[in-house]
Amino acid sequence: MQRVFSGIQPSGIPTLGNYLGAIRNWVPMMRDHECIYCVVDLHAITQPFDPKALASQTREMAAALMACGVTPDRCVLFVQSHVHAHARLAWIFNCVARLGWLNRMTQFKDKAGKDRENAGAGLYVYPNLMAADILAYHATRVPVGEDQKQHLELANDIAQKFNHDFGETFFPPIEPIIQGVAARVMSLRDGTRKMSKSDPSDQSRINLTDDADTIALKIRRAKTDAEPLPAELAALEGRPEARNLVGILAAITGQEPQQVLRAHEGQGFGTFKGVLTDALVAHLGPIQAEMQRLLDDPAAVDAGLRRGAEKAAAIAEPIVARAEALVGFLPRG
Ligand code: ATP
Ligand code: MG
Repeated sequence: MQRVFSGIQPSGIPTLGNYLGAIRNWVPMMRDHECIYCVVDLHAITQPFDPKALASQTREMAAALMACGVTPDRCVLFVQSHVHAHARLAWIFNCVARLGWLNRMTQFKDKAGKDRENAGAGLYVYPNLMAADILAYHATRVPVGEDQKQHLELANDIAQKFNHDFGETFFPPIEPIIQGVAARVMSLRDGTRKMSKSDPSDQSRINLTDDADTIALKIRRAKTDAEPLPAELAALEGRPEARNLVGILAAITGQEPQQVLRAHEGQGFGTFKGVLTDALVAHLGPIQAEMQRLLDDPAAVDAGLRRGAEKAAAIAEPIVARAEALVGFLPRG
């Protein structure tokens, strides 16, 4: 059975982009893979964050995952900082990865913005930690949104260089699994930027916890154009906001974007946005109710995460200990 790893940062409330591009694809993989899913709090401190809110955000993220069907009885679900193997292997990878490789990473450029001198060093080496997250488990399949493709290529470069430098075929190649019509959900305010939970504008995204009124308002305010919907997908070229809303409705209703266009051809956005709102409210309602039910008993969520961390450590410890031995560290006597 192949081993799967994926993670999500507790850097805010999960968005529709996280759900459609990543979380939703995690669930079917649990049927025929050994799945390891992680709330990556070490990654979340690479950007400005509130230390008083981080713990509860981490628990809420775990509850959101569980509510989406990522239940601890069917996978290994845990918090990254609870398993020290990640940080240990990340340090080794900081020494394996080349500056030239990291300089090409577009996520760093996006997140650091113009004031690059003032970005944290952690943000720069983020992809090395991500490589460690996956390779500490010898995981070979990684379901992610399209924005993470470049980081996975880098993880493969790191694995290859480690293998080359330390004389073994120790780390296996990683295969990204980028699935579905919504592998890249865009911001509601700007169809050229991806939807992100850390975007300063709450209007740019649908949060999984948004109530019906909030969803309706955000969709109503979502940027669009004045043209009606065309019959053919190709005609949406150059209309990124329209393309995004069509893609979201397709993903949420299990259709292809072309089918959505056939059904709504000639419609203006006033009508289409109403249909989209209803579909989102109907889909997210049960997830929200389950998340609330789970958060009513935070100790139970934490206990599930503790058991997950124990299972994760049992897999990662021997792998990272072997990596340390290959590097030449003196074993603890
Ligand atoms: P942040 O803004 O803090 O980086 P994020 O919304 O990008 O948050 P991450 O925790 O970085 O979320 O990523 C979690 C998973 O969600 C990853 O697999 C990522 O590829 C996926 N993902 C993130 N944003 C989108 C999006 N807009 N569309 C599809 N998938 C996405
Ligand atoms: Mg991100």
